[in-house]
Order: sequence, then C-alpha cells, then structure tokens
Amino acid sequence: MATEVKNTQMLRKISELATKWKVAPGQILAACHELGVETTDGQFEVGDDDLELIREAAAQQGKTIALAPNRTPRDIAAAMGVTDKEVQTALIKKFKVMATLTTVLAQDVAENLAKEFGFSLTWAEPSAPKASRKLQPGKGGPVKRPPVVTIMGHVDHGKTSILDYIRKANVVSKEFGGITQHIGAYQVTLPQGVITFLDTPGHAAFTAMRARGASVTDIAILVVAADDGIMPQTQEAIQHAKTAGVPMIVAVNKIDKPSANVDKVVMTLPNYDVIPEAYGGEVIICPVSAHTGEGVPNLLEMILLQADVMELKADPKADFRGVIIEAQLDKGRGPVATVLVQQGTLRVGDVIVAGNTWGKIKAMTDYAGEKVKEAIPAMPVEILGLSEVPGAGDRADIVKDERAARDLTSDRVDAEKLRNAIGMKKRLTLRDLRRQMDQEEVKDLNLIVKGDVQGSVEAVRGLIEKLSHPEVNVRILASGVGSITESDVLLGSASNAIVVGFNTKPEPKAKAEAERQKVEIRTYTIIYELIEDIESALKGMLAPKYEEEYQATVEVRAVFKLTKSGKVAGCHVTDGKIFRNSKVRVKRDREIVFEGELDSLKNVKQDVREMFAGQDCGIKFVGWEDFKEGDVIEAYELVQVN
Ligand code: GDP
Repeated sequence: MATEVKNTQMLRKISELATKWKVAPGQILAACHELGVETTDGQFEVGDDDLELIREAAAQQGKTIALAPNRTPRDIAAAMGVTDKEVQTALIKKFKVMATLTTVLAQDVAENLAKEFGFSLTWAEPSAPKASRKLQPGKGGPVKRPPVVTIMGHVDHGKTSILDYIRKANVVSKEFGGITQHIGAYQVTLPQGVITFLDTPGHAAFTAMRARGASVTDIAILVVAADDGIMPQTQEAIQHAKTAGVPMIVAVNKIDKPSANVDKVVMTLPNYDVIPEAYGGEVIICPVSAHTGEGVPNLLEMILLQADVMELKADPKADFRGVIIEAQLDKGRGPVATVLVQQGTLRVGDVIVAGNTWGKIKAMTDYAGEKVKEAIPAMPVEILGLSEVPGAGDRADIVKDERAARDLTSDRVDAEKLRNAIGMKKRLTLRDLRRQMDQEEVKDLNLIVKGDVQGSVEAVRGLIEKLSHPEVNVRILASGVGSITESDVLLGSASNAIVVGFNTKPEPKAKAEAERQKVEIRTYTIIYELIEDIESALKGMLAPKYEEEYQATVEVRAVFKLTKSGKVAGCHVTDGKIFRNSKVRVKRDREIVFEGELDSLKNVKQDVREMFAGQDCGIKFVGWEDFKEGDVIEAYELVQVN
C-alpha cells in the first residue's frame, strides 16, 4: 500500500515538506499514492522536478487524505498535520470514544474523525499503487542538505554543555545502556529539518581543518556566557569565523544564573563587529541555558532558519566527496575514521581513499551506534576498513577499485612531498612578498597582530592601517593581547597570513606548528622596526634577518704552542656539539674577548667536522691566538629567519 508509513526518516521528510508547502502530510501521501510514488521503504528521495509534481498534486488533493486500513488516532493526526492531543480531545468530546493514541479505530470512526477536521479520508489498498512508477531519485542535481554546525567560544562558557544537552534531548542511542558513542559529529532531526553538529567544540579544531583545506562548517554558534560576557577566546572565535566567511549565531548561555545579563552581552557585540538583528545587523541572538534547556529549541530553529537562507545543497548522486572529521587506531577494530559526506553517497563495500591511506569499507556506523549501509550528504559515519589512520581534515574520495586506490594514494604522497619541498616558497613571507607581488601571486598582505597589552596592539593596528600600497591590500585579519598561540598560527596557515608579535613571543606549541605549517612569525620590541619591515617588504627591500642558534659550550683547558703553526687551544666540549664551520664567541670572566670563526677543529691530529659533549679537541681561530686556559667558547650558527 502506497501510504503505509513505517519509516520515520521518510515521515520526517514528509512533515517537513508539509510545513513548507502549507498542506497536511496526508495530502502529500495521497498525492504520492496518486502518482504511484512508493513511500513504503523510506525511499523518499525524489528530484526537484518530481517534488514539484508531488507538490502540485498535494495541493489539488483538497483536503483528502489516503491511509491504509487499521489506523490509529496517532496515524490520523500525523496524516492531517494536527497534534495527537487535538485528535484525542475530538474523539472523547465528539464521539465519546475513549481510545488511546495507539488503538486501531473502526473505519467509520476514523472517517468521521477526519471529517471533524475537514478532511475526507479514503482507504488505500495495501500494495496497490495506481501505477508502479517509482520516481527516480532526481535526474541528478543538488538537493537541500542539512547544515553542518560548529560550536565556538571562550573556555567554560558552556560549549560542551550545549552540545551535550542537544545530543541528550534529541539523539536516541541505539547502543546497550544508552551510552551514546562519540564519533566526532552527530545529527539532530527536528520536524523542520536535520542539523549536523561537529562534536569538537572550539575554533582551534575548526581552523585546523581549514588549514588542511577542509571547509566543512556552514554555521558557527558563538557561545557567550551571560554572566561573563565577551572574553579573549570569544574574540578569537569571532575572528576565525569571520576570516572563514562562516555566518554566526550567538548563543548567550547560562541565562538560568541570577547574575546573567543578556542585554549587556548583546550591547557589547557591536564592539567586535558582530551586529545583532536588534541593532539592524544580521546576527541572530539566542539566549539559552544548557542546564535547564531553556531557549535550546529556539536555537535549533534559528540554525535551520539560517540554513534555509543559505540554501545549502548537495547532490547525493554526484561523485562522492567527504572529509575526515576524526580518526584513531582502535585496538580491536584497526583504523577507525569518521567521515562527513559532502556530496554523493558513501556505501559499505566502496573503496575509499582518505588522505594518503585507503581501504574497502567493511562497516559503517552512524552517530547513534546503528549500522548503516549508506550515508548521504551532511551525514557523519564511522567507517572501518582503512589500512592506516588518516588525518582530521583529510579529503576522502571513492575510487573504482583497489588498484586505483593504490595509484591515487601514491600520487597523493608524491604531491605532498612536492608541496613540502616547495611549501617554503608558496607560503607568504615578508621577505618573499615583493617577488610574489611581482608574479601577482598575492593581492593581500594578511597579518595577525599580537601584543603584550591592548594599548600596544591598538598602536600597531593604527600604524599598519595607515600603510597603503597601490597593488596590495594590507589587512589585519585578527589581533589580540597575549602570546602567539597555536590557534594564531593555524589561522595564519588557513588564511595565508603572517603573524607579527609586539613585545610578545610564540608559545612552544605555536612555534612547532609554525615550522610544520611554514607560517612566518615575526616578533618585535620596537614598533617602528615592525612598521619599517612591512614597508620595506612592500618595496621588496627587506634585508634578510638572522637569528643565533646555540650549538655548544667548550672550555679551553690548555694552550699548546706549536713551532710551525702557532698556538692551539686544547679544549673540552662541555655541552652540545661544535662544528668546523661554527661561529664562536670567546668569553673570559663574562667579557667577550673574541668573536669570529674556527680555523681548524682537530681530534688528536685528525681534522674533524664536529665534536660532541664529553670529547676533547684542538681548536685554532681565524686571526686570533690570545686565548688562555679557562676561556669559555660559545659556539653558534646564524639562521636566516626571513
Ligand atoms: P566549555 O569549556 O565551553 O565547553 O564549557 P562547559 O560546557 O564545560 O561548561 C563550563 C561550566 O559551566 C560547567 O561547570 C558547566 O556545568 C557550566 N555551565 C554550562 N552551561 C551552563 C548553563 O546554562 N547554566 C549554568 N548555570 N551553568 C552552565
């Protein structure tokens, strides 16, 4: 029978369409029945053209609904698009029938009940669609897809709590004991639509993915605690969302607290270039409490509203493309990865290439722990079968067979090697700016400015903003107070920006990340040097800058006088490693007595290239013999930093 509705996913889709088309769900079912569209197996995936046909037919159904026999009050309510309660009240008041919502009604009672709401109920025969035409899922072409949402904001403002609340209220776990599994993302299904939430809150993860070229987020939720207001990481999150061009919805959280002051938060937002709707801007503000749940349904509704405006679409029939959200090695199951489908459909048995690894998908599980056979756009699924663990942000594609997978992965490995080899040149650096400008590789000089105090950040900003150049826009993407963090570097990497620090330094993790991502960090203690460097870079006249890198400490323990070749310092390396080409500085009672280079480095009589801590060696210096026992030699090299 065409109208027996078993599949909840399909029902959701139908009630979503009913709301949109302003008809009763039953009218859509009747239209489907008339057109011979199967709605029994959840295959309600129809293309835009066919949807239009169904919409027209549904509108012409008048108020007719078609149902299979043996229906309950709940079925009839759903078909008419009214609430269970309204139907139950009518049954009791009008028909004096005391039925539960799941009692099967006699046919005449069911028909009269429908009539009471202005509907004419017809009975559809089981398995007897008028035509056995099954509308094909689209003639191709994109269809509406759920939005992918990331939650950002300052630490402790309630990001995790909001994600947990939404999950608990909306996701029913299929696992024993109701333990929901975390696969890095989950979906929430509401009558108005579906939302995909990325489960790793914070802008670091968001920007890390972007730095790898994966832009998965459609909407960012900026969480601000109503009792705390906008804090440094809130500002960072705003900057990250803005540079990514991702629209924001502000969730003002903790409104249950007596000290909450939503108005104050809303009032301060424009200071950060976030203009709420109430102030004539476009940013939606949702007061919420992750503790009581107040406002959360409204937040979800607003997300869907924002998504509607964005008209997010993807083609489930297109070639598959996805992104790895997270991945790890599971002791029992091997590499496990969560893939977010961006377009096309992923199926068990497909051969997938993710980053530099590949595999045939053995099994797929959704966010609720249920085994699934296929995944459509915006759906996150955990997959088994990859040969190695891919990286978060890696792109995933389906290939024809295992051989193609091997070819593609080896191509990708080569490409990565190549990228690494030329990466240095490709990333924007101040020193290389002029060349890149000349080759029209850059139109923007993007900067991220960090400073020790707000005053100095403002001063640097002010001076940079005054710089102008006919070919290049000098833009400050983000600025803030504090040390240079990993997150600044990731933002720099994602938006090809240079990080400049004034009276501040990079954190060790940031330094390591900058080396990995080849992001330039420049630190200054004199403001005019900073400005001059940028000006010189624009003119292509920036002189190379070197930094000393420590190598070794060496002590002079004896002085030998050789008849033929002058004096030699008999030395002991106390720390590090000294090289034949090291630069050296010799200190006596903390005073520098010589700075220069080595003439020779010997071990006994052999010339050597390097000597380690604990070893003895003989050293001669270029043009200097005035060393004494007890002198301390500091060895270093000069490393070019721009
Ligand atoms: P995150 O660091 O942004 O992920 O913040 P958490 O979700 O871990 O929350 C930080 C703290 O704020 C926890 O102690 C939460 O219990 C508390 N919290 C979060 N949301 C609310 C809320 O709506 N109301 C109240 N009163 N406390 C909240």
